[in-house]
Amino acid sequence: MSNAETIDLEAARAVAVNVCDPELPFLTLGDLGILRSVEVHGTTVIAKVSPTYSGCPALDVIEQSVHDALAQAGFNARVERMMTPPWTTDWITEEGRRKLEANGIAPPGNTQTDKNILFAKTAVCCPQCKSENTIKISEFGSTPCKAQYQCNSCSEPFDYFKCH
Ligand SMILES: [Zn+2]
Repeated sequence: MSNAETIDLEAARAVAVNVCDPELPFLTLGDLGILRSVEVHGTTVIAKVSPTYSGCPALDVIEQSVHDALAQAGFNARVERMMTPPWTTDWITEEGRRKLEANGIAPPGNTQTDKNILFAKTAVCCPQCKSENTIKISEFGSTPCKAQYQCNSCSEPFDYFKCH
């Protein structure tokens, strides 16, 4: 992989998109929608990554992971940070939402819906029993990206991936 003709962009993209989030290791960057693009510039693969929550300390780890994964796959890699347009939880794929729920984390609602008070879906569904009878315990869960909820139906506490 030393010259432009031999760089396999699709292979590089597949490596980058399958890097896992350090805080949510069952989610890939592809699931989260934070891998913006993978490009080839000369002999270098440039991966552009967006931060989820600004100031999220995980981003440094994510950038390093993407770089290392590409380097291990034999690419001369560079990772760039893209701040605009800002990431929102709407970019999390259906597969990503399904994985969140499967891991006991209520997936975020739709930001457009949340902003529209008339049609706001304020209830957070319990990922265990699907009850909407839930209550927020803390604005911050195990990470700043999540809020902690408890289900009144099955009494299970769970994390809600906050809308953003
Ligand atoms: Zn429940």
